[in-house]
Formats: sequence, structure tokens, C-alpha cells
Amino acid sequence: MQTEKVIRRDLKYIMHTYNRSPLVLERGMGMTAYDAEGNAYLDFTSGIGVNSLGYCHPAWVAAVAEQAGRLQHTSNLYYTAPDAKLAKRLCRRTGMDQVFFGNSGAEANEGAIKCARKYSVTTFGPDRNKVLTLVNSFHGRTLATLTATGQDVFHRDFGPFPGNFAYVAANDFDALKAAADDTVCAVMMEMVQGEGGVVALDPDYVHQVESFCRERDILIVVDEVQTGVGRTGTFLACQHYGLKPDIVTLAKGLGGGLPIGAVLTTAKVGAAMGPGSHGSTFGGNPVVCAGACAVLDTMDDDFMKNVNDRAVQLRAGLAALPHVTAVTGLGLMVGVAFEEGIQAADVRTACEHAGLLVLTAKDRLRLLPPLILTEQDVTTALNILAGVLENA
Ligand SMILES: *Cc1c(COP(=O)(O)O)cnc(C)c1O
Repeated sequence: MQTEKVIRRDLKYIMHTYNRSPLVLERGMGMTAYDAEGNAYLDFTSGIGVNSLGYCHPAWVAAVAEQAGRLQHTSNLYYTAPDAKLAKRLCRRTGMDQVFFGNSGAEANEGAIKCARKYSVTTFGPDRNKVLTLVNSFHGRTLATLTATGQDVFHRDFGPFPGNFAYVAANDFDALKAAADDTVCAVMMEMVQGEGGVVALDPDYVHQVESFCRERDILIVVDEVQTGVGRTGTFLACQHYGLKPDIVTLAKGLGGGLPIGAVLTTAKVGAAMGPGSHGSTFGGNPVVCAGACAVLDTMDDDFMKNVNDRAVQLRAGLAALPHVTAVTGLGLMVGVAFEEGIQAADVRTACEHAGLLVLTAKDRLRLLPPLILTEQDVTTALNILAGVLENA
């Protein structure tokens, strides 16, 4: 059988860094993924927030295919049209001024840390290079972003780590004030901690941090790798908070399924990054950027209204299910907390057997559906979850 063969080969030749479900996904269309046995699954994971338009959205497929047949890659020694077009669209939608393109969330955050240090060191001197991040944050798996990640569980066995990162508890402004000595160049945070359990920051805290940092020209770096590109109902999650960051990173949902990461900066920060200061061979790849432009073009006002309407419907439905104690996060970035005795991982497995793909984050169930979902998709997912939880 194809499924067994694929799994056997994977276990033999792929490094075992992931615990996978025993499914081989073979194709997808819209909200539905199909495994190698032909079983259909309603997908409320979107590949961890990546397939923002679902599987094989026609506008995205057309844009990617057209660009792949025209020019698949050059290098950053030449200009190409798609990356500049995408950068302009991103600046228009975010109010930021300049963009650097890489290939992943971690790479975007690496770039953000470099931009913050470069601006601060050239403006204030070499000692002002410390980055504050939040406890329970997640910023990536490379050494610097792993260091920035405020969760010890990811650090074990990988030291020594780059210096001058420090962690402060989320939503504790006094802790941040106490940690913000005159060597701090930036505060880096997620508006909704994703891997940390789908926990949104308090608006009051965010406003206090913003004015404190503004007074000292400490840069605010917002990691929107998971929250960005419409996921929470606004293009950036920080727009819910009225926060205007100095640096924003994007990745997951931006490419609609192809690898991309972006560092967005203000003109002030971007001006510090001259020729030779940063680079990435694949960064700004024309095929990926053409796909990302199709993602952005699809996200018009009607599209965003659907995101917000479906979020309201989904959250209300989840709150009414048995054993549910809290529904967290923002928009279509949803965490579900259960009564003691109900394990999110067991709920996830039972949903999979019932034809619904969902995620977990810490001890919560996590839903990151494609942003194209319909009212009927939400109803179907809620019915499956209700069936699972009634029997739990
Ligand atoms: C997923 C994620 C990252 C890492 O992105 P990769 O593309 O896996 O490197 C960084 N920050 C946040 C908030 C994320 O959710």
C-alpha cells in the first residue's frame, strides 16, 4: 500500500525531528485535503497558518504557474518585478516603508534582529544591542531566533547561544521596565503568542510598552509570522492594538503555501541597512512573490469581512461545546482550553479519525483554518468537534 511505503521510507531516510500523524496527504482542494487512501479531511490547520487561501486556490495557482513559466529565479544582482510589486502592496497595507525578503519565519526574525541592532549600534554606539523578548514566545529554530524564543524546552542541548537576549513575562510592564537598561535596542513580541498557547497580549500592556519604547528609541519588533496577513481579522494583528511597530516580520500565510519571509521596517530603520549588510540567495524569488501578490490581491474587503464573520461564528460555537472552558486568541487564530481530564492531543486524534484536521499548542486545541472558509465549513467542523467532545 502507498501509505505504508511512504511512511516506511520517511522513517528510514528523514531525520526524526517531527512526530507525524500516520496520514499521507496527497492532494487538496479548497478546504479539503485527501490522503493516499482517498479519505477526505476538512482542514482547520492550513499547514500551520500557511495555506491562507486553502489548497490550490485558482488565482494563486495561475499566478505561480505563469511566473514559473516566465522566470523562476535570477539572483539579487538584478531587478525583477514581482518582489517590488509585493513590497509595495505590503507597505500600502501595513504603513511600513521598506521590505527585505527571505524564505521563512525564522529567517525574517533573524533579519529583524540584525536590523534592530544595526540601527541601534550605528545610532547609539556598540553596546546598545540587547533584545528583550517575552516568556513563552516563539520566534524560530535558528540559533539567534531560538535564543529569542522564551521557552527553555526548545533550548536544551543546543548552546552556547548568542549573547544579549533577555526574557520578561508577558503582560508585566514593571518587569519590562526593570529589564530595559541602557543596552536594550529592541523589544520583540507576538501580539498573540501562537506556539505559546494562543494567548493574546493585553491592550493596556502593549500601549505602555509602546510609549515607554518610543521615549527611549527602543525599537518595537512585532513577530507577525503567524498572526499576520489577515489571520486575526486585520491585515496585521498589531492593527487591533493601534500599535505602529518599527519592524514587523511576516512569513507563514504570506506565500499561500510557498516559502517566504519578510522583514518590514520604517524608513528610519531601513536606512541603516546599506548594501552588503544582509542578503539571501532565494529571497524575493519571483515565483514565490507572484503567488504572494495573488494572496494579497484576493484579500479584499469582502474577504476580510468573511474572516471576521467566520471568527465570530466559530468562537461562539466553540464556547458552547461540552468541556470547553475558554476560547482564546484573535480572529481565526483560535485556542480552545478544556476542563481538566480532557487532553487536547486526544481531541486532535479523535477529530482526525472523524475527518477534521486540527492542531494543538501547549495544552490547548488550536485552530488555524484557511481564511476562505464558509459558514457551512464552520458548522461542519463544530459538529465533528461536538461529536468528539460529547464522547470524551
Ligand atoms: C512559525 C513561527 C516562526 C518560525 O517560522 P519558520 O518559518 O518555521 O521559521 C516564528 N515566529 C512565529 C510567531 C511563528 O509562529
